[in-house]
Amino acid sequence: MKSRGYAAKSANSPLESYEFERRDLGAHDVALDISYAGICHSDIHQVAEEWGPAIFPMVPGHEIAGVVTAIGTSVSKFSVGDKIGVGVFVDSCRVCSSCVQGLQQYCVEGMTGTYNGLERDGKTVAMGGYSNNFVINEDYAVKIPANLPMDGVAPLLCAGITLYSPIKHWNVKPGMKVAVMGLGGLGHMGVKFAVAKGAEVTVLSHSPSKESDALSMGAHHFVSTKDSENLKPLAKKFDLILNTVSAELEIGDFLNLLTLDGTLVVIGLPGKPYAVHAGALLNGRRRIAGSMIGGIPEMQEMLDFCGKHNIVSDVEVIKADYINEAYKRTVASDVKYRFVIDATTF
Ligand code: NAP
Ligand code: ZN
Ligand code: ZN
Repeated sequence: MKSRGYAAKSANSPLESYEFERRDLGAHDVALDISYAGICHSDIHQVAEEWGPAIFPMVPGHEIAGVVTAIGTSVSKFSVGDKIGVGVFVDSCRVCSSCVQGLQQYCVEGMTGTYNGLERDGKTVAMGGYSNNFVINEDYAVKIPANLPMDGVAPLLCAGITLYSPIKHWNVKPGMKVAVMGLGGLGHMGVKFAVAKGAEVTVLSHSPSKESDALSMGAHHFVSTKDSENLKPLAKKFDLILNTVSAELEIGDFLNLLTLDGTLVVIGLPGKPYAVHAGALLNGRRRIAGSMIGGIPEMQEMLDFCGKHNIVSDVEVIKADYINEAYKRTVASDVKYRFVIDATTF
């Protein structure tokens, strides 16, 4: 299947228009015309090889919302015309204990990424969502609720599920004090979900100009981290801290904000390790944990939750030729709060 999109030809080179082939429709596959593709900071890390050597040309994009145009002969879950979403992985081993539990993101063989990796045949380079169409095995796509706008839905496929999953796992509920570090694509979804679950939500941000947006998203408090003095009154306050920051930071300063038995969940993935002082963990029996996206059943649950509560991402819709500028602005924390590419402009 012919596809037209945007690719990086080498590390750090600007993305440019690119034509390529996708696999033909298999019996269990659905083809879709992409409507919108979100720009995740993970795309930027990978194009810049901040996570290690990458495969080029790279068509990034793992926040895909589209409409089914054709179905394989054995497809039962979707029909032509359905609105569907594709996230960070397109396949997995299907038989390991994680996959059997629907936690495909933790597949023991490793999930099959939507781009910057090989498909399960071991030779086809996976090409992501910055393009006009896509082919996916029906088991790895999810249904989009009819009442939600497709541009605001696209970021739910990564940013949304990546915050929904830890918020569910750590059982966020009324009475809990939750902090979200970084009000970007992931962080703003964390605010919306934690507020919807009834928690008292504080945004910890190094961009003071985001305060009014944070409060209008439902956050109860906003604290500028630019001045570390501002963190002192927050010592031992939070039950759960969701760290979505894409850059390296002094994680110990934030561990100290956890109450007894509190947990700081690492979600942001900067290229360099954090330095953790043992004392920051011993004191208060604190935990540092991680969380990575979510599995297919949880992605569907998240989308249904969003449909019910009318939750979508706040987006800036752009044309394909603005991608490179959008990358620069995202790195500068200047996005409100997710760039989404109109796929008709590829
Ligand atoms: P993003 O939109 O760029 O948001 C990151 C936010 O971090 C920024 O808006 C900014 O918030 C804060 N920040 C950035 N640089 C900072 C600095 N130097 N010091 C302090 N704060 C800074 O990125 P995103 O798409 O939400 O992704 C966030 C991170 O999560 C990335 O590392 C990405 O790769 C990772 N990620 C992880 C998963 C997973 O499964 N765990 C999934 C997707 C993405 P303020 O302006 O409010 O300070
Ligand atoms: Zn992502
Ligand atoms: Zn598996």
